[in-house]
Order: sequence, then structure tokens, then C-alpha cells
Amino acid sequence: MAAVHYFDNNATTRVAPEVVEAMLPFFSERYGNASSMHAFGGNVHKDMEEAREKIAAFLGCEPIEVVFTSCGTESDNNALFGGVEALGQGTTVITSKVEHPAILQPCKWLEEHGARVERVGVHKDGTLDMDAYREALAIPGPKLVSLMWANNETGVLFPIRECAELAKAAGAVFHTDATQAVGKLAEIDLAAVPADMLSFSGHKLHAPKGIGVLFVRQGTPVRPFLLGGHQERSRRAGTENIPYIVGLGKAVELAAEEIRSGEIGRVRALRDRLQEGLLAIPQAVVNGNREMRLPNTLNISFPYIEGEAILYHLSDAGVCASSGSACTSGSLEPSHVLRAMGAPFTSLHGSIRFSLSRYNTDEDVDTVLSVLPGIVAKLRALSPFWKS
Ligand code: PLP
Repeated sequence: MAAVHYFDNNATTRVAPEVVEAMLPFFSERYGNASSMHAFGGNVHKDMEEAREKIAAFLGCEPIEVVFTSCGTESDNNALFGGVEALGQGTTVITSKVEHPAILQPCKWLEEHGARVERVGVHKDGTLDMDAYREALAIPGPKLVSLMWANNETGVLFPIRECAELAKAAGAVFHTDATQAVGKLAEIDLAAVPADMLSFSGHKLHAPKGIGVLFVRQGTPVRPFLLGGHQERSRRAGTENIPYIVGLGKAVELAAEEIRSGEIGRVRALRDRLQEGLLAIPQAVVNGNREMRLPNTLNISFPYIEGEAILYHLSDAGVCASSGSACTSGSLEPSHVLRAMGAPFTSLHGSIRFSLSRYNTDEDVDTVLSVLPGIVAKLRALSPFWKS
């Protein structure tokens, strides 16, 4: 197989070898049920609690506030459905127009079943319209806010500390979908950010798919989403997934080290070099605020050509990236995020997302810079709209 140059880390990441190593004994040697009375099971309970402590230390919260789930989507759904159910009739949900479908779809369902949902817009650079947010918080009655920490398509950051403070001052419950932020930002500190709930997912930070976390601050009104046994203090039923929980503990430890050591700065420098190189392509535009942005993400448009066509040619060169568009029922739907930012039609369809990780190298960036200008020129030559 030809070399793979992987730039799709906001979709999913390679599981770190250290994580695989930490998980392996829990499949065939230490496979007990953490809820069992016997020592064989009780011992793995200790490993689970150790992982919970590592994650709590990383997030700046208490271990008791960490609830293990199966993924970011489950955590988000639990926060929204469980939060609205606990707050009761007449609850207003305040969210943004650029959230991930794991938030947008539950909000749509809640709206169809009687809840009021306010969707706050964003500016042209993808940053949150804070005036509109303040206005939404003035709505009387119980309120649940859900705002993403970092946008999965553009990497643009919302000022979550300020948003949480404003929500608390307005008496609202505050949830943040931090699925793209955890492991990439030093600012994730729940001792300083008064969020009531926070979601994230293991597979975005080099743990496997199938493990997530919902942080629930003590005293937060939220109903459990999965009912059954008493696991996770009756907040999330289902036999605990010990190998994956242990793996997530290890992944978080590695992420903490990456932030401490400045490795994340190397990733940022690679992203910036890629950005500068690609901006040399005529009319290329970066989508989203360049400062308030994840260090690993670049969303860039090449007007007058389709993102999907670019991806196809990149894939032939072994480059994995993604576009904001989703191919639904035969029609190419432009990204709801870029639309909310008011991106022009020509940019909407030609946008590509590159998302990096600790495993990206200079050679990966060189490969993109050597093939992409030619791909764009070739596709533009075929475009009836392109005038050089
Ligand atoms: N929230 C955001 C911002 C995401 O980027 C994703 C995944 O891409 C999710 C939620 C859903 O996470 P999962 O795939 O673990 O369900």
C-alpha cells in the first residue's frame, strides 16, 4: 500500500501504541466485571478508578464527576435530553447554529416535542455572536445552554469560560461539547470554567472508538439516559468497558504530556506551514478566525471547484482530508457551518479540512504542497466558472 498522509484527525485518530499496550491485558487476562464481588473483578475496578482519577485531574474536576459513556454523541444526547427532562416543562435550550449533529439533531427532536430552542448565530469568521447569546440568556424560565468549545469543521473556538459565566449569572445550566477541544488546548480546566456538563470522545485523542466521557458537576440537574444496572452511580447503566476506559486514561496522560512539552506547538507550526503554502494557490481563502482556532485545524476553500473532486484526487496521492459537504440523497449539501458564517457560494463547495495530530510529519505537509496546486489548477481548467 502507498504511504498514507493522514490529515483527517478531527474525524478520528490513530490509536496510540502506548494506549493499545495499556489496554491489551484487559481483553484476555484481566477480563473481570468491575461490579463483581470477587477479587478478580474487584481488581479491575481499581484500574477503572485510576483512569477516572487521571481524567479528572486532566479536566480539573473531581473523579466522581466523570461518567464514562460510549462516545461523544451519547454524552451530548445525555446532556441535552437528561438536562431538559430534569429542568422540566417550559425549558428553553440555547445552542448555536454551527454545532455538530450530535447536538443539532437532539435539539431538533426536543423542538418537535415542545421545547423552545434558540440557535445563536456566528460572525463571518465563525466566532459566536455574543450579543445574540446575551439576548437569548434573557429569555425567562429554565434554560439549558449547549455550546461547542471548538468547531469540528473550522477549528474556531468559542469563549467557553465567558459563555459559562454568563449562563451561570442568568441561572442557566451550561453544557459544552468539547469533543474537538480536549487534548488540543491547555485551557480545559473545569476548576476555572464554571460549566455544569462537558462531553468528549476518546477516538479524537488517540484512544479507540467506543469510549466517551460526560462530566457532570455535582448537583447538576440531569436524568440518566441509559437505565439498567447501577454502574456509574446509576448515571449510566451498562457493564463498564474496562479496556477502553483504561485506554482513555492513558490517552489523556499522553495528551497532558503533549500540551506540557510543547509538542502541540510543533503540530501548530506544521499546520501553519501547510496554510501558508496553500494560500499561494490563487484565490485560496482560510475559513474561520485564524487566532481563535484549534492548533491542528485548517479549513481552506479553493473557489470554483468541488471539494469532493479535490478529495478524490488527494486520495489518489495517499492524502486523507475531508470536506465540509455531506453527500445526502444524491445532492451535495454545503456545510451548515460555512453557511452560518455567510461564506460565498463559490467557497461553500470548494472547502477542504486538514486536521493534524502528533503523528504528522514535515514529509506529509510537503506531499500536500507538492500535489494540491496541480489538482486545483487541473480542476479549475475544467470549471465553466473559473476565469484565471
Ligand atoms: N461533537 C463534535 C464537535 C464532534 O466533532 C464529534 C465527532 O466528530 C462528535 C460530537 C461525536 O463524537 P462521536 O463520534 O464520539 O460520537
